[in-house]
Amino acid sequence: MNQLSDRINNLSTSATLAMAAKARELRAEGKDIIGLSLGEPDFDTPEFVKEAAIKAINDNYNSYTPVDGYGDLKNAIITKFKRDNNLEYTASQIVVSTGAKQALYNIASVMLNDGDEVILPCPYWVSYSDIVKLNGGVPVEVKTDISNDFKMTAEQLEAAITPKTKMLWYSSPCNPSGSVYSKEELRAIADVLKKHPNIYIVSDEIYEHINFIGGHFSIAEFEDMYDRTITVNGVSKAFAMTGWRIGYIGAPDWIARACNKIQGQVTSGANCIAQRAVIAALEAPASSIQYMVDEFKERRKLILGLLGEIDGIKANEPEGAFYVFPNVSEYFGKTLKDKTINNASDMALYLLEEANVATVTGEAFGNPDCIRISYAASQEEIKEAISRIKVALS
Ligand code: PMP
Ligand code: GLU
Repeated sequence: MNQLSDRINNLSTSATLAMAAKARELRAEGKDIIGLSLGEPDFDTPEFVKEAAIKAINDNYNSYTPVDGYGDLKNAIITKFKRDNNLEYTASQIVVSTGAKQALYNIASVMLNDGDEVILPCPYWVSYSDIVKLNGGVPVEVKTDISNDFKMTAEQLEAAITPKTKMLWYSSPCNPSGSVYSKEELRAIADVLKKHPNIYIVSDEIYEHINFIGGHFSIAEFEDMYDRTITVNGVSKAFAMTGWRIGYIGAPDWIARACNKIQGQVTSGANCIAQRAVIAALEAPASSIQYMVDEFKERRKLILGLLGEIDGIKANEPEGAFYVFPNVSEYFGKTLKDKTINNASDMALYLLEEANVATVTGEAFGNPDCIRISYAASQEEIKEAISRIKVALS
């Protein structure tokens, strides 16, 4: 008999992590799988960050840290927010967590009561809807598509708001579409929210530095949104530190205190060595990671060019992050090698089985017409993967 809680029984498995696990499994069976499913930079963590971690070990950093992060790390985060985002925070407004994922979980758990609605412009990052549901919230999806560059308009937001709306969550640059909201687009969204003072915003800026058009803008920079915005960020993507598990927020004081309280009961705070290393990462000039951004830009050009040669795939032009989110719906209803493709999940499975390429179904991101392809892989792997996809679809 299933003795598990309804909460866990109703929770979906993370589709990105599940696909990565499946690819790993097939590789262990000897299959030559190219993994374009996981959003994980394939670079090494920069040397200066590794050295800071080694020094921390040798300096005997081994105790519990303050629950919300070391004071000097919080200072480095405050300086980063001021330097990169023109945002002023004090130490009590910063909380360091075990990845941006835990930061997001904290926010949902301290902000949502049962039945509170959270607006999620679609496509959204996989875990948003499940984190919201796990905390009693109700995700409200706002559909966008390739024709409007996968961005929610102010009118769409207005139409989605109800008396139960508590929050709006979005990422910019967006995982999975790579879309970046401009200052003007965010202003239009802020103008709608101004009329609804009880709605709070989660602005997930973890891909801030992987931006090919310049001009990253944080919605909290608008004075009238500052007190209602939780700015989420982390080092996983920009510094190739996914496994180090450090993320952080800048938030209104009362929300940050609540996140601190929950962490005090759940994790006691993030890993001490990783926190010391992140000080070095955040204090480094932007030029120290530019080589990775440049390489992602090259790969974006490569993958868009190659996808453009495949009939029936309509790829968007991402402005940031390291994903393309092509529409594959032209294939729906068609039978390829005895397999009927009815939706994006069928397509992702078909590509895994027939092309040995792992992607992720758009369904997990709230858009069943698309698949997500991560180009956080070498140019050689990208060339080989897209050529295999082309053969499998021809
Ligand atoms: N937000 C977005 C949009 C992401 O793509 C990810 C993926 N890692 C996260 C948050 C979580 O990042 P982490 O927990 O590794 O800091
Ligand atoms: N954020 C990455 C992705 O979307 C990592 C996997 C995860 O944390 O879900 O692939």
